Amino acid sequence: MIDYHLHLWAHGKRDIGPTIEDLASYAEKAKGNGVVEIAITEHLFRFVQTENILGSFFRRYPDSEMRSYMESYWKDHARADLDHYVEVALAAKEAGLNVVVGMEVDYYEGEMDKVSELLAGYPFDVLLGSIHWVRDWPFDHTDSALVQGYWDIIGVEEAWSAYTRALEELADSRAVDVLAHPDLIKIMGKFPAVPEEYYDRMAEAARRSGIAAEVSSAGFRKPIGEEYPAPYLLRKFKEYGVDITTASDAHNLGDVSKDFDRIRKIVLAAGYESVKGFRSRQANAIEISQ
Ligand SMILES: [Zn+2]
Ligand SMILES: [Zn+2]
Repeated sequence: MIDYHLHLWAHGKRDIGPTIEDLASYAEKAKGNGVVEIAITEHLFRFVQTENILGSFFRRYPDSEMRSYMESYWKDHARADLDHYVEVALAAKEAGLNVVVGMEVDYYEGEMDKVSELLAGYPFDVLLGSIHWVRDWPFDHTDSALVQGYWDIIGVEEAWSAYTRALEELADSRAVDVLAHPDLIKIMGKFPAVPEEYYDRMAEAARRSGIAAEVSSAGFRKPIGEEYPAPYLLRKFKEYGVDITTASDAHNLGDVSKDFDRIRKIVLAAGYESVKGFRSRQANAIEISQ
């Protein structure tokens, strides 16, 4: 197994740099859960360098309470230094830790070329792609009454439709290697009339772009209480020959590789015998039994 989605900083924590000791603790914890390799994948929007190129991104949307909420959330998080983050991850790798250097890249409509240009300057092993917001609506902020109230304004069908469109564009952009938590839009347990229509499009986007998909235990810790992707979507991925990674999406040491016994059973039951690891953004197969 691999744990290819790990954050060093909880949301709300700021102005801190990673250390090799942090990474060593993550690697050690993962190893204890039967994980042979981890990827450190901090959010793109946590770095000052991203703020420099996308700082005005949310200004493209009409002024509203939601846009202000999202802008201040984003700016509050964009404080870390990307150079330092990559240096520490590289140093950990060179010190022999089973760590690869990654990033969780958020989707920015029409701006992925700028993102790719920024990231091309760094020696990343793997880039995850995520849809965390639809336009200026960060639907996965489960604790915000303002954010959650928007389900009624936007509508569940339109939310799934816009999310799926964004995912298709993200996959087609080829800017990233893995679709993180592919059906994150189900986070609150709100489903459209026929979710399979959207799942089919997600699977098709992965098939045509050649992107891998992540199987994540993070959903167990969210209101939906189910792994990402849903069983139907994972079956589709397998049917379409889409490769997978496994991930906990931990934001702290305690959650590293959490519930991986369940994830192992899920991927084996779906017929997968190996997952994909990455080096310099090139995939290699890792047997699940390892
Ligand atoms: Zn994410
Ligand atoms: Zn994440």
